[in-house]
Amino acid sequence: MTHIAVLGSMNMDLVAYVDKAPQRGETVTGREFHTIPGGKGANQAIAAARAGATVSMIGAVGNDGYGVRLRDTLEHSGVDTDFLRTVEGASGTAHIVVDDEGGNSIVVVPGANGTVDHLSPGDESVIATADALLLQLEIPQAAVLAGAAAARRHGVRTVLTPAPAQPIAPELLAATDLLVPNEFEAVTLTGRTDPREAAAALLDLVPEVVVTLGATGSLYLARGTEPLVVPAPRVRAVDSTGAGDTFVGALAVALAEEKPVREALSWAAAAAALSVQRVGATASMPYRQEIEAQYT
Ligand code: ATP
Repeated sequence: MTHIAVLGSMNMDLVAYVDKAPQRGETVTGREFHTIPGGKGANQAIAAARAGATVSMIGAVGNDGYGVRLRDTLEHSGVDTDFLRTVEGASGTAHIVVDDEGGNSIVVVPGANGTVDHLSPGDESVIATADALLLQLEIPQAAVLAGAAAARRHGVRTVLTPAPAQPIAPELLAATDLLVPNEFEAVTLTGRTDPREAAAALLDLVPEVVVTLGATGSLYLARGTEPLVVPAPRVRAVDSTGAGDTFVGALAVALAEEKPVREALSWAAAAAALSVQRVGATASMPYRQEIEAQYT
C-alpha cells in the first residue's frame, strides 16, 4: 500500500445559509446552519485515504470540541492521527455565509493551525517513510518549508497546492517537485492569464506543474516534455467545494502507485468528477472502488 503524509490545516467550517448576506452593521436571519469538518490539509488527507493510501496527518487542532470532532473525522476516514497535535486554544475555523445565489463570504481564523510553524519531534520520521508529502498554504510557510526540506532529505516527492494564493518563498518552490495550482492561483503566481503561459512560467521554478481548470480538466507540464491536456468527465455538478483537494489527493495516490502521468491525471479527474456531483467537501469524496468504476 502507498503511504501519503499530509502536513497542513484542519478547520471546522461554520456555514450559515441566508437569503442575502448582511452588509456592514446589518443583522439578518439565516435559514440553516451546519458545522462541517474541512481545511485543505484534512481534505487532501481524507481524499488520499479514500483513494486507497495509508495516510498520516501532521498538524494541530485546539483543545476544544471542534478539535475532538476534527480528529474523529480523520480517524473515521482511516487517517493516522498520531502526529496530529492538540494544542491549548481554539481549533481553526472558517466562518462562511452562503447566500441564495450560491455566493459566499468567508473569514478564516487559523487558531491551532497558526501554531504549526515548525516540525515537531517525530514529524520527519513519518515524512521519511512516505511516498509523497502533500502541502498547502493554510499553515505558516515556515513549517511548509521545513516539511518540504525534510521530504527532500529523504527523497520523498513533494506536492504543493499553492492555496490560498499568496507569494511563495523561493526556497519553498525550490523544494517542490509538483506544483498544483488552480487557474486563479497560477495567474496570481505568474501574472499570466493564459493557463499554458502560466504553467510554462512556473516550470522555471519547479520541475512539474498541473494547473487544474475546473470543468475543463487539467493541464500538465514537465521540463523537457510536451504539455498534456486531460479533460474532466462531463457531469452534472452540484457542489464543487473540495474538488481541487479531491483531485490532488487522488493524483498523489496514483503517482505513488506509479501509474503513468496521463493515467494518473485521468484517475484524479474521475475522483474529482464524482465529488462535484455530491454536496459537501469531505462528505462528497469518493472511495477507491467508485473511482475505479468511473475511470474504466
Ligand atoms: P475547489 O476550490 O472548488 O475545491 P479548485 O478551484 O481548487 O476547486 P478546480 O480547477 O475548480 O480546482 O477543480 C479541480 C478539478 O476538479 C478539475 O481539474 C476537474 O478535474 C474537477 N472538476 C471541477 N469542477 C468540475 C466539473 N464541473 N465537472 C467535472 N470535473 C470538475
